[in-house]
Amino acid sequence: MRNLTCIVCPIGCSLSVEEGELGADGFPVLTVTGNRCPRGAVYAQEEIRSPKRVVTATCAIVEGPVLSAASSGDGGTLPAGRPAGFTGPRRVPVKTSGPCPREKIGALLKEIYQTRITLPVRVGDKILPNWDGLGIDVVAVRGLG
Ligand code: SF4
Repeated sequence: MRNLTCIVCPIGCSLSVEEGELGADGFPVLTVTGNRCPRGAVYAQEEIRSPKRVVTATCAIVEGPVLSAASSGDGGTLPAGRPAGFTGPRRVPVKTSGPCPREKIGALLKEIYQTRITLPVRVGDKILPNWDGLGIDVVAVRGLG
């Protein structure tokens, strides 16, 4: 028996999950109790068979030459580097656009921490699109530059 808290909605039902005989799909049949709605049973099945998490982290920005005001033109796209007078954080917060399989989170974080973002960056920019072919993107959650 495993006990879980459903995180699908704020009610947070306490779930109990009992593993039974192997089913046709090769996995034990799971009996879920304590859920107030069917979403809790789906959550428990996923959590036990293939747990996933949304990943949040930060990405370093490219450390280039400081750009003069003239080189940034009309305020449009800036080339790589730190705009003159930019004193903001040297890292951009990012998150995955959807949950990532838990066993892949270590590799994902390693790639995020090796990635360097060129400014400017806008909220929602895809930093690592379709990471590892999983259909999830790593996106910026804050604009900079
Ligand atoms: S089982 Fe249903 S009601 Fe309970 S926390 Fe999960 S989603 Fe919410």
